[in-house]
Parts: sequence; structure tokens; C-alpha cells
Amino acid sequence: MGIVFDIKEFAVHDGPGIRTTVFLKGCPLRCAWCHNPEGFSPEPQVMTGPAGTRTVGQTYSSDELAARLNQLAEVLQANEGGVTFSGGEPLLQAGFVAEVIDRLDHLHVLLDTCGHASEQDFRLVVSRSDLVFYDLKLMNPVEHRRWTGADNTKILRNLDVLSGMDVPFVVRVPLVPGVTDTDENVAAVAERIRGLPGLRRVDLLPYNKGAGGKYKACGMDFRPSYDESAKPRVNPAPFEGAGIEVHVR
Ligand code: SF4
Repeated sequence: MGIVFDIKEFAVHDGPGIRTTVFLKGCPLRCAWCHNPEGFSPEPQVMTGPAGTRTVGQTYSSDELAARLNQLAEVLQANEGGVTFSGGEPLLQAGFVAEVIDRLDHLHVLLDTCGHASEQDFRLVVSRSDLVFYDLKLMNPVEHRRWTGADNTKILRNLDVLSGMDVPFVVRVPLVPGVTDTDENVAAVAERIRGLPGLRRVDLLPYNKGAGGKYKACGMDFRPSYDESAKPRVNPAPFEGAGIEVHVR
């Protein structure tokens, strides 16, 4: 069994083609800029908004979820799309995600992960995926812990595992003003990923000011200690200098 907090059909920004995106509940990190706080806890939770109260987090068996995803298989395949597993962090439910993938009708699978997982769980799902979106936030381990709640040891180790697995991947860097968008951090990311086998490109994701929108509904405070009103610095030069294709999203 697994727990899911949303399923988005006909998504066009979560990978190639038209996709169904599954948001798995639970995340080991607590990024200060996260805009999906309902994905933090691995348990169902109540959200309260203008339209009333609802419980977020639906339990599925792998058969049930795969059956739902397979309903759209023809449309997804005709539009060169597939299924994206996102979250939260899908690898927190790695066994469940692997079981779902094994039941899909030959659909393209994209894993969208922060990489903070055991190597065993990481290999279990990546080996079943066609493409990986891999988040890299901060290269400095102390800063990484300060802003996400955990250091980046597992993330950097799994990056090396990923580059040895013959599965193409895209590195995604959220550009948070004064936190991740510094020249020092961006240059360190470019240096770390330069020449990695399997790397297709880098996506730079400028900070979205609406990040705090759902916290109140979840009964949480959103008080970021970075300057939300500042414009993130978008500097693709270190990646271009390292011969890496860059997209700004
Ligand atoms: S890894 Fe993603 S889902 Fe988890 S806290 Fe960070 S931004 Fe949110």
C-alpha cells in the first residue's frame, strides 16, 4: 500500500509529452522554500481552506494505482508522455513505487527526486525509470542542513550512483534568492556535475513567490528567513562553461 496526496492528469510541465503526475506523500527534507507542505508528512492530514475542510492523503494498493494510471495509457503514449512520480519524495515509498511501475502498461516513467534516500531504495526505483529529474540545492553540507534539515551526503552519493546506472537524468536547481542562487553555489553545482555520464541538461528554477500559499491551510507557519521579494539571480554561465545545456524554467 502507498499514500498519495494528489494525482494530476494531462500535466505538460512534469517531463516529456503529456503526463500523469503522482504526488507521493512524505518527504525526509524540510526545504524552507517548499510549496507543497501537504507533502511533508507521510500520514493523511486535514487541510482547511475557504471551501471547507478536507483530508489529504489517499491510500492505494499498487494494483489500484497502476490500474488508474493505465486507464490513460493510450493518450499518454500517443502524446509521447507517460507517468511522473513526484512528491513529497517518492523514494520514501520506494517499494510501493517499484510495484506500481512493474504494473504499468509500458508507460514512460520519470522519477522526480531529491535524492535523499538509501542507495538500495534509490537503485530499486531508478532501475525501473526512463528518466530522472534530480534536485541539487546546495553544495555546502552545513548550508544544506540549515535550509533543508539534512546534509547532502546521501544526495551526492546517490548522484554518483545515478551517473553509473545508464539512466538519463536532468539536474534541477531551485534558485532561491540569497540561498541557492549565489555565484559560489551555482559554480559548485556546475563543477560537481561536469562530465557526469547520463547528464542531459540542467534546469534552473527561479523561486516562485507563491511558495507559502498552502501552509496556513495545513496549520503551519510560513516565515522564510530569506528575502522573498528579492529577484533570484539567474546565472547559467558556470554550466555553459562546463559544456552543459541549460534551460531556465
Ligand atoms: S525535497 Fe521537495 S518536497 Fe521535500 S521539502 Fe524539499 S522542496 Fe519540498
